Amino acid sequence: MSDIETDICVVGGGPAGLTLALLLLRSGVRVTVVEKNRSLDREYRGEILQPGGLALLDRLGVLAGAKERGAYELRRFRLTERRRVLMEFDYGRLPAPYDHLLSLPQRHLLEELLGCCEQFDGFRYLEGQGLAELVRDGGAVRGLTTIGRDAGHSVEALCVVGADGRYSKTRALAGITNQRHDVFDMDVLWFKLPMSEQPSGVVRIHRGDGGPVIAYDSFPGSVQAGWTLPHRSYREISGRGIDYVRDAAARSLPEYTDRIREHVGVLTDLTLLDVFAARAERWALDGLVLIGDAAHTHSPLGAQGINLAIQDAAVLHPVLLDAVRGRTATAEVLGAYEKARSADIDAVMRLQVMQSKGMFATGKVAAAVRPRIAKVVSRTPLGRRVTRRIAFGNPGIRVREDLFTADRQPVQEHRKTYHP
Ligand SMILES: Cc1cc2nc3c(=O)[nH]c(=O)nc-3n(C[C@H](O)[C@H](O)[C@H](O)COP(=O)(O)OP(=O)(O)OC[C@H]3O[C@@H](n4cnc5c(N)ncnc54)[C@H](O)[C@@H]3O)c2cc1C
Repeated sequence: MSDIETDICVVGGGPAGLTLALLLLRSGVRVTVVEKNRSLDREYRGEILQPGGLALLDRLGVLAGAKERGAYELRRFRLTERRRVLMEFDYGRLPAPYDHLLSLPQRHLLEELLGCCEQFDGFRYLEGQGLAELVRDGGAVRGLTTIGRDAGHSVEALCVVGADGRYSKTRALAGITNQRHDVFDMDVLWFKLPMSEQPSGVVRIHRGDGGPVIAYDSFPGSVQAGWTLPHRSYREISGRGIDYVRDAAARSLPEYTDRIREHVGVLTDLTLLDVFAARAERWALDGLVLIGDAAHTHSPLGAQGINLAIQDAAVLHPVLLDAVRGRTATAEVLGAYEKARSADIDAVMRLQVMQSKGMFATGKVAAAVRPRIAKVVSRTPLGRRVTRRIAFGNPGIRVREDLFTADRQPVQEHRKTYHP
């Protein structure tokens, strides 16, 4: 017998899962979120939010609070080659107030979203509980069981939402195939350096003598660097020792040479990331739907993942509300979300492949052509169109505030978070 009965059970308390939870709670739906981590004190990847995501979070009432916890605004996106600026996208030309990127620690966003969710009586947060099994009734998913350090739960729900990221267990247990595309011929070494001056307000891609590097201001007081390497070359490079790695990184990022020498002491100061794109073959089954990275995974280039996860939640919100009101969550009902969202995701994937080829491709032809393409993109209306596209994705996506019924309730005496 289940010990929790809810309308919607979300697996994963990341940006996708918690945004969706808050949208549904504000529409009077009962939501249980299952999150395998025991606290928000964990490692995150990705903290740049695009204007499209900022606008949605603002309408949802969480942007101001998340920003107050600490963030940096980034106004420009710049590509340089040996210190020469090849291309610059000026976000300041977009309509205010969403005329910048925001470097916001994911923890600040999740703390704010969770704090808002906890103000609703219909919310349950199973922290430190991982998905164990999906529960089925006939062919349809009707809930799940969880596993924690000491005990587990059994949750009965009209629909389970898999928002558990790129290596989604929900997707695997549902038997949905994930198509991985190795279209980005690179890996990324990810490391932080202390900021020595004021925040730059610029996302920079440097092309120097080593591999291209992306660098941006990261709150509080750091520069986040991502040094790109040819796919699967790290083993060979790291085998030559930390001095070699440090020198190679400094060649890619000469203005940070001193800080790299001082702060990259051992190989474990660097995190290796496998860059890939992927897409689940379908996003909806009877009683189950996938969103965010679980449905489609993107390269970090162009900072799209969190934005897309938040937009997915906004698109799925009215679909799930219909399902809850009609007490039917068939693949057909839930498929309305996939139908509405699929083309947007394909468009972003195509754009990211083009961005990657344009900025990271090596070889004589690429080196000769890049400045010319950069000139066209920077100096014609095309640049403004590309900036808008990257910044907003599908501009028609809105938070359906007309569907909100429940006001926030005062925080109750009891916390809605259950520890095992
Ligand atoms: C190096 C790197 C840099 C990036 N930079 C950016 C960036 O600057 N901007 C941007 O927009 N995107 C960026 N991204 C992508 C971005 O991080 C993701 O697209 C985004 O976090 C997806 O949100 P999500 O909620 O779908 O999944 P996630 O953020 O992965 O959240 C999934 C949640 O599910 C939980 N979970 C997982 N498995 C289980 C389970 N079995 N049971 C219960 N809970 C589970 C996890 O603990 C986690 O909390 C970057 C990605 C990488 C790898």
